Amino acid sequence: MCAIAAGRRGRRVLVLDHANKAGKKILMSGGGRCNFTNLGTTPANYLSANPHFAKSALARYTPWDFIALVEKHHIAYHEKELGQLFCDESSKLIVRMLLGECAAAGVDVHTSCAVERVGHTAHGFHAHTARGEVHAQSLVVATGGLSIPSLGATGFGYELARQFGHAVRPTRAGLVPLTLSGKHQERYQDLAGVALPQAEARVGKRSFRAGLLFTHRGVSGPSILQISSYWQPGEDLRLDLAPEADAGDWLCAQRAARPAAELKNVLADLLPRRLAQRLCERWFDSRPMRQYRELELRELGRQLHDWPLVASGTEGYRTAEVTLGGVDTDALSSATMQSRLVPGLYFIGEVVDVTGWLGGYNFQWAWASGHAAGEVA
Ligand SMILES: Cc1cc2nc3c(=O)[nH]c(=O)nc-3n(C[C@H](O)[C@H](O)[C@H](O)COP(=O)(O)OP(=O)(O)OC[C@H]3O[C@@H](n4cnc5c(N)ncnc54)[C@H](O)[C@@H]3O)c2cc1C
Repeated sequence: MCAIAAGRRGRRVLVLDHANKAGKKILMSGGGRCNFTNLGTTPANYLSANPHFAKSALARYTPWDFIALVEKHHIAYHEKELGQLFCDESSKLIVRMLLGECAAAGVDVHTSCAVERVGHTAHGFHAHTARGEVHAQSLVVATGGLSIPSLGATGFGYELARQFGHAVRPTRAGLVPLTLSGKHQERYQDLAGVALPQAEARVGKRSFRAGLLFTHRGVSGPSILQISSYWQPGEDLRLDLAPEADAGDWLCAQRAARPAAELKNVLADLLPRRLAQRLCERWFDSRPMRQYRELELRELGRQLHDWPLVASGTEGYRTAEVTLGGVDTDALSSATMQSRLVPGLYFIGEVVDVTGWLGGYNFQWAWASGHAAGEVA
């Protein structure tokens, strides 16, 4: 996006990527359909040490700007849920669109070309690449985060930032499944594959309501991926396993309607059957409903709404969708992404300490920050 904006201004632009194809993360995103933006994008959907930093770029390149581009290229799309826009067909169409816009703006794109080192003199930047040296007035670093190393992710952008005197905020995996260990893993392990269509995952005051999935190593699904960006090892993580109903009221009503039914069978109408059975085996005993006092059922309901889950860690960069932290925004202009320390140097996209929620927000940040830099670089 940055190259397109700069190329349209008549700048000579060269994009260097060490991957053998452009836009590999776009290709594999959204299950191959690329969740390319979110209609509800606001700065509140991002994590950053400076929550105000993303405001300017997001306001100047909105989801509607990207949608206009998608429509110009006749790419069919649909809203899945919560403002998330996906291609009807394939993510390939988004990469083709961006490469087409690059070609139209006179941008050269070189893939399989790693940038090994970068130097800086009064005349500009010189990059040592696998194919020789390149000189430029401006250098835009768009090397992304550390997630999915097999797709070409490197920490090179952070190294460059430090080389030019920028601080880099500690990085960690975000939008990532959580792992359980020891007895906590044993309790849930054989539930792998059990999914709740709606659960609420909570850390402190932050909560996300969406699907949840038990895995062999722990828990995943959108509610967990979202909360993973806010959770740190040792922090209390709570689940509402039945956020759609008041479980206490519901259980009392069930007792009146089905007094002879066993709790585990009643709970199987509220939760996946295997989970209901596990809860009854491990935590609640399962008796006919008539044998429970109202107080007991209300306490059981309370526990379903506030279930503690002791996670030991995350699956790490191997499966994380994003990297939290990155180039500190303090020394960057929020209007242009330009370094305040080295004129002509820019950082955009995920390498910057701005990380979006799940749902198209990360691409919207990549487009918006790229556009902001491309308008001036
Ligand atoms: C599996 C997966 C699915 C995702 N799905 C979505 C989604 O549906 N919606 C959404 O909004 N976000 C999604 N994301 C997040 C999104 O892909 C990223 O936030 C976004 O791609 C960041 O864009 P970027 O340009 O900053 O970095 P990247 O897209 O990571 O691009 C960085 C580029 O820099 C290149 N590079 C790195 N080091 C060097 C070097 N030394 N020399 C030359 N080139 C180098 C890499 O090869 C890469 O092409 C997903 C991420 C993953 C991993």
